[in-house]
Amino acid sequence: MTATLLDGKALAETVRAEVRTGVEAFTQTHKRPPGLDVVLVGDNAASRIYTRNKEKASKEVGMRGRLHTLAETTSQDELLALLALLANDPEVDGILVQLPLPPHLAADRVLDAVPPEKDVDGFHPVNVGLLALGRPALVPCTPLGCMRLLAQSGTRLRGARAVVIGRSTIVGKPMAQLLLAEHATVTIAHSRTQDLPALCREADVLVAAIGKAEMVRGDWIKPGATVLDVGINRVTTSEGKSKLVGDVCFDEVKERAGLLSPVPGGVGPMTIACLLQNTLTAARRRLER
Ligand code: NDP
Repeated sequence: MTATLLDGKALAETVRAEVRTGVEAFTQTHKRPPGLDVVLVGDNAASRIYTRNKEKASKEVGMRGRLHTLAETTSQDELLALLALLANDPEVDGILVQLPLPPHLAADRVLDAVPPEKDVDGFHPVNVGLLALGRPALVPCTPLGCMRLLAQSGTRLRGARAVVIGRSTIVGKPMAQLLLAEHATVTIAHSRTQDLPALCREADVLVAAIGKAEMVRGDWIKPGATVLDVGINRVTTSEGKSKLVGDVCFDEVKERAGLLSPVPGGVGPMTIACLLQNTLTAARRRLER
């Protein structure tokens, strides 16, 4: 069997087009576009690229995107002062603080300073709690993108056995909550899980969010399963070239899975598309409730 690939790039384009239409309607009604403010502290090269892409993507769908770039030496008080300004600005609908923060800043305190209704990353304890309660919340973008990919693929979740490898607050835990809300029977695995391959073999739906290049092997997969590969790992090939791979050994897993999201081009593109969707949702909820 060769898996059908889940085209996250194409689906992300569809989501962006939906958001663009929503942004046009919002702008007509409220005489201003939805606003997304992205905050970057420090010089992390990857973060600089991610934040620039987020700002650019927001502008492409007609939002007012702004990037605030702060020096590595920014103090906690200075960062909290900026967040207070953004929190009180009626034209700011979404606030995103790019992680990781420099080590002298307390990420928890910083994320808590983003008002829940503007928390487009879905990391504030109020949004985490609402998701756990199964009530409407701003949901972290990567798991939201995974759910959209699953919906598009036609994978049946009700009654399915789902295994999520990884228990981070950014991916693993919210992913498990969302699968549970769709009536899957969910197991969360992590670095202390015993006999992970055997557990994975039970999964109709397997989500790998580990951060370990090609860890999930072909013989871990139940034939015909749906496999979402969230991992993004940069490796050097035998020819000395740099390339991106997922947490799943693509060549092996594609021979067993029914549906598989590739890296790149699977979950990755969905994340920014869902950030835009969350920003529009946040804007609508604040102004149209
Ligand atoms: P974290 O490092 O926060 O979490 C990794 C999880 O994997 C932990 O729960 C850890 O377990 C578990 N783990 C590590 N080693 C093993 C192992 N040998 N066996 C079983 N479980 C293990 O990572 P994130 O959740 O932030 O990200 C995961 C991956 O997804 C990364 O590659 C990241 O780059 C990628 N990512 C991709 C995004 C996208 O847009 N596509 C967005 C966000 C992340 P424990 O808790 O016990 O330590």
